[in-house]
Amino acid sequence: LDLGEFRRQEQMVVDFLVNYYKNVEKYPVLSQVEPGYLSKCLPSSAPEDEEPLEAILDDVHRYIVPGLTHWQSPTFFAYFQTNTSTAAILGEMLCAGFSVAGFNWVSSPAATELESLVMDWLGKMLDLPRPFLFSGNGGGVIEGNTTEAMICTLIAARERVLRRSGHDSITKLVVYGSDQTHCSFQKAARVVGIDPRNIRALKTTQSTLFGLSPDLLRKAIRLDIDGGLIPLYLCTTVGTTSVTAVDPLEPLCKVASEFGMWVHVDAAYAGSSCICPEYRKFLNGVEFADSFSFNAHKWLLTSLDCCCLWVKDPNALVKSLSTDPEYLKNEATESKQVVDYKDWQLSLSRRFRALKLWLVLRIYGVRNLRSHIRNDCRLAKLFEELVVKDGRFEVVFPRNFALVCFRIRPSAVTGMANGQAMEDEDREAWKLNEVNKLNARLLHAINASGRVFITHTEVGGIYVLRFAVGAILVRERHVIMAWTVVQEHANSLLSMSGS
Ligand code: PLP
Repeated sequence: LDLGEFRRQEQMVVDFLVNYYKNVEKYPVLSQVEPGYLSKCLPSSAPEDEEPLEAILDDVHRYIVPGLTHWQSPTFFAYFQTNTSTAAILGEMLCAGFSVAGFNWVSSPAATELESLVMDWLGKMLDLPRPFLFSGNGGGVIEGNTTEAMICTLIAARERVLRRSGHDSITKLVVYGSDQTHCSFQKAARVVGIDPRNIRALKTTQSTLFGLSPDLLRKAIRLDIDGGLIPLYLCTTVGTTSVTAVDPLEPLCKVASEFGMWVHVDAAYAGSSCICPEYRKFLNGVEFADSFSFNAHKWLLTSLDCCCLWVKDPNALVKSLSTDPEYLKNEATESKQVVDYKDWQLSLSRRFRALKLWLVLRIYGVRNLRSHIRNDCRLAKLFEELVVKDGRFEVVFPRNFALVCFRIRPSAVTGMANGQAMEDEDREAWKLNEVNKLNARLLHAINASGRVFITHTEVGGIYVLRFAVGAILVRERHVIMAWTVVQEHANSLLSMSGS
């Protein structure tokens, strides 16, 4: 490490990024490159000799930036954002600079102790019940992502049950979620050895606003028990990926507890909002769950990756994930006075992610973080109002956070199915299909413009456009511009379809 060069080059990279952020709004937000474009621009093997950073940054500008979809662009309204911030970037620099692998306490005491401390800070900001905090005999850990959080808690739950019922019972274990639960749950369950036939995705409907029904859960569990199976784990969601639906935590937890199941609350996106008292109600009932996680890297300015997981019983994790090879033995571990985070996660080595979370919490403070959440929700409300004002559109599901789900409404598409010899039911299905196709064409046209990027979902057979506000640079004018783009493309599509 040449410190003089480090300072010079680090300054070049910062300048590059400053320039990037100054111009990011001018780039097509959704990358317009064709598959395989990069191999045509870059050599097929690594250079034999060193190359100057100037030349490399030039290549980043010429070849990498065009192949980026600009997640930090103010016109990025797709998926759920993964926002970064000055504090998070600086935290990442410190993390990379120290480059410690704090897998157990002794391997870097500060990495472990800071993580435990900030997880308690954050738990208090979310008003999590004390049993989830270290100060209440629970505890928090930073995982890379929600999938890992699910895998670790599934393993803890699995071991707890298999210790009682014998390891042969693994084929009988059943896990439950809804048809709105994130697909990572299916993957996590398969990874921990749950028979794919025993992964339940219980149906939700508009009548429960796409939340999981406790009665349906109880019926499903009873049916499984009658069939000789063992209920293991329920994954509930606060803020589903498609439409930000919220499962009724308290009644679901009560059902699960009747059967001794582990309950996890996945609030990957919406969890951040619960630092605001007015959104905290969405976590009501979390006190009855076993574990809770959210991705600070989605909406809490803490750039990828930073999934915060709390458990009431850290021992359940440790018992199922700990390893104890000779080469890691040390007095601190043996004293049982310390946390060894390697036993709370899948891998051994881990990044010092707590640094960036600590910087974010200190550089902004809770007050500014709340304002950041509220501002995004305010902008989402503005977009929602614009949708409502235009009679050709409708908001398809109630908005809970900063996601607006909307579409061109069926009645705006006139003249459809007229004169067709069809039964009423067939006509309805045909019409739904036509409306869905029209909305899909609208989405395609909007994104092809490169001016804004939004994504879609399909719920209850309805094709929905999702407008997720959350990019760090987004301002009112970007939301208004995005709505103009939507309207322009709707105008031409509707006029082409004769409506
Ligand atoms: N759960 C929910 C509700 C999500 O919205 C997402 C991603 O958007 C995930 C889980 C997946 O999270 P990860 O990519 O961190 O595994």
